[in-house]
Amino acid sequence: MKTKEKIIDLFYEIASIPHTSGNTNRIIQYLKKFAQQNHLKSKEINGNLLITIPSSSDMQDKNPIIIQGHCDMVGVKEKDLKFDFLNDSIEIKIDKDKNFMTANQTTLGADDGIALVYMMLLIQERNTFKHPKIYCVITRDEEIGLLGAKEFDFNEIKDADYVLNLDTEAEGLFVISSSGGEEIKGTYKYEMNLCLGTVYELSVDGLTGGHSGGNTLGLNGAQASRLIAQTLGHLIQMYQLQLISIDCSGLNNVITNEGKALFISNAPSQQLINSALDILKLYASCYALTDPKINMNLKIVNHADKLQAFTRQSTGNILFNIMYVPYGIFNSYKGFPLASVNMGSCIAGNGVLEIKEHVRFADNNFGNLLKNRIIQYFTLTGATFEVSKHDPPWIKKVNSKLQQIATKVWSDLGYNNPQFVDMHATLETGLFNEKLPNAEIISFGPNIEKIHTPKEKLDLNSSVRIYKYLKKIIESLN
Ligand SMILES: [Zn+2]
Repeated sequence: MKTKEKIIDLFYEIASIPHTSGNTNRIIQYLKKFAQQNHLKSKEINGNLLITIPSSSDMQDKNPIIIQGHCDMVGVKEKDLKFDFLNDSIEIKIDKDKNFMTANQTTLGADDGIALVYMMLLIQERNTFKHPKIYCVITRDEEIGLLGAKEFDFNEIKDADYVLNLDTEAEGLFVISSSGGEEIKGTYKYEMNLCLGTVYELSVDGLTGGHSGGNTLGLNGAQASRLIAQTLGHLIQMYQLQLISIDCSGLNNVITNEGKALFISNAPSQQLINSALDILKLYASCYALTDPKINMNLKIVNHADKLQAFTRQSTGNILFNIMYVPYGIFNSYKGFPLASVNMGSCIAGNGVLEIKEHVRFADNNFGNLLKNRIIQYFTLTGATFEVSKHDPPWIKKVNSKLQQIATKVWSDLGYNNPQFVDMHATLETGLFNEKLPNAEIISFGPNIEKIHTPKEKLDLNSSVRIYKYLKKIIESLN
């Protein structure tokens, strides 16, 4: 059977077993059985799986290498499709020329199912090529916070020299570093008082948003809570108003693309609305390039109401803090961000303002500096703070032997233009880098389009080329 057919067959096997994040026990048991059927040892480590392939006879003196991928997939479907990711098999579709694989209106799970397929194929073909001892490390729940890798026992694989991570989605693109991450929450307590007046709602949506580690340009665009604070800050120069609430909640690693605020004012309403519309127009035109679908609205919720709102002084402080708490890219080199911070969520109401900041950093020094700056800000402005969730960075190695081998094998196969890139996102490889500081790491994979969407599409010819490359690079690691 040809490699492409083998890849397709193995992918069908994996797709038949539901394996979204948090639901990976069945796929782990399946892979464990697969190892057993192939007479290989495997070990479950806190829901992850380690399968060991002994070295071929001619490479027994070499140190082991690690092949790594995650077994969980993101489950997203088209709105109208009836589909249960906990129980239903992914329905695979392949075009007649066998160029591409997609799923029927759901995510395919090629991210990172293709890594599992490659490992299974290496296991089946282990006696047909020379290789050192290979640790196949299959982690769970990467997509929901690198949970499996955080609980893996790295002592089991500490004698390995190289890590080949198979979780990159563009052929020829090699990731060689990734950022660390940390979250800092600041909580302020403010006074409220009873107010009488017209209640307004200011809403923002349609912002470009995006992943704060992937779409770093987005950190220069519009962000919902900051936009709301700026608009109200503008308005408060002309009219007395008091804030009732702000709701810009969301994931901490996503640039908030919508939100709303309620406020109360005694100012003549038509006049206030007219001024607000002018301000909204101004912001919309300023962000037209980065956020072409920006949509801002002001409407009256109640003409005369009596309710608790933040005092005038508290309102000013809240707007100030949202506008000036550290945000955006702080250090960069040749356009690549080395340290950045995203305001993941910003909630105000009932006497409390809560701001969650998500920091990314290329190394721990940048991270500590920026983290400190945020903590200083919170402390100096009267907030309490809480630091949580430390994800280590994968620090770039200079003069990497692995990169040299990767480049040579790539050109030996006649492939063109390999590209080595740094990522500002947080990857599992950060944990491998922290726990195995002497090992060299690289990440690559075949072309997969539109991951994490129902349009996810695996390029089968690219999958064959990358498998060939994977085998060849393993043979060359000596
Ligand atoms: Zn992935």
